[in-house]
Amino acid sequence: MVCGVLAIGCNLAWGRPVAAAPTRGKLEAKATTKASKPKVDQGHPKAAPVSTPARQRAERLGLGTRRAAGELLAGRVSDAWLRSVGSEKAPSTLKFPVAKGWFVRGFGSGAGGYHQAMDIGGELGSNVRAAAPGLVGYAGNELSGYGNLVILIHTGGFVTAYAHNAKNRVVPGQRVERGQVIAELGSTGRSKGPHVHFEFLHGGQNCDPAGLFRPGVRRRDGSTMPLPRTSWPDPKRRPKGLACHPRKHHPGNVTAAPPEATEADPDEPEDGDGAP
Ligand SMILES: [Zn+2]
Repeated sequence: MVCGVLAIGCNLAWGRPVAAAPTRGKLEAKATTKASKPKVDQGHPKAAPVSTPARQRAERLGLGTRRAAGELLAGRVSDAWLRSVGSEKAPSTLKFPVAKGWFVRGFGSGAGGYHQAMDIGGELGSNVRAAAPGLVGYAGNELSGYGNLVILIHTGGFVTAYAHNAKNRVVPGQRVERGQVIAELGSTGRSKGPHVHFEFLHGGQNCDPAGLFRPGVRRRDGSTMPLPRTSWPDPKRRPKGLACHPRKHHPGNVTAAPPEATEADPDEPEDGDGAP
């Protein structure tokens, strides 16, 4: 018995198990596995988190947090965030974010006009694209009702948000081009069917994006809605006729709104939201 244990020790010291009596086979195998583990770990140290420029930027600026998302959905953009957008010109117009998507409902719809966003229906998994060049301020799923959510910050203090995604395809701190794929269209969060809940904010208010979309707002049959088109080249001068309002809450929400309640209830099911 003693010899057997010693034999195992010797074998391990040389790094090679030798044929042993059948009765000790299990014991040897176990001992070999245990003794080998540290070796393997040494050879493959735990990988350090990859520190990409986007990650560094997000950490430095406090992007990607629930708090950042709450600020952005209230239309508040810090100077430090704006300096990091990486695009010199304000967007002026917005790209319709789902190429073959269709209008479901618009700004000011829903009970009491609380829905200050546009819902764009589309095929599950289709590409959701950045409406303008910008910086990813948030990409996560921590806000009630929104599901997988991406929020972009744009030059001039504009913010766009894309909710209910099947999957987010960008990370906080990342810079994106106009038209770049940022998510896959889905129905996560409070949603009755695949669509993008698109919000457009400026100066602490939600604004109606409809007239800014290019090539226009598409209907399900492929036609373009006959809407008056406008552009917003100077962030300080809002175009005439473009509506902006402080965020409204659904009339059914009777509880007092905490500061971050701006994130709650993007789409209320009783309004048949998003069900194409
Ligand atoms: Zn919506």
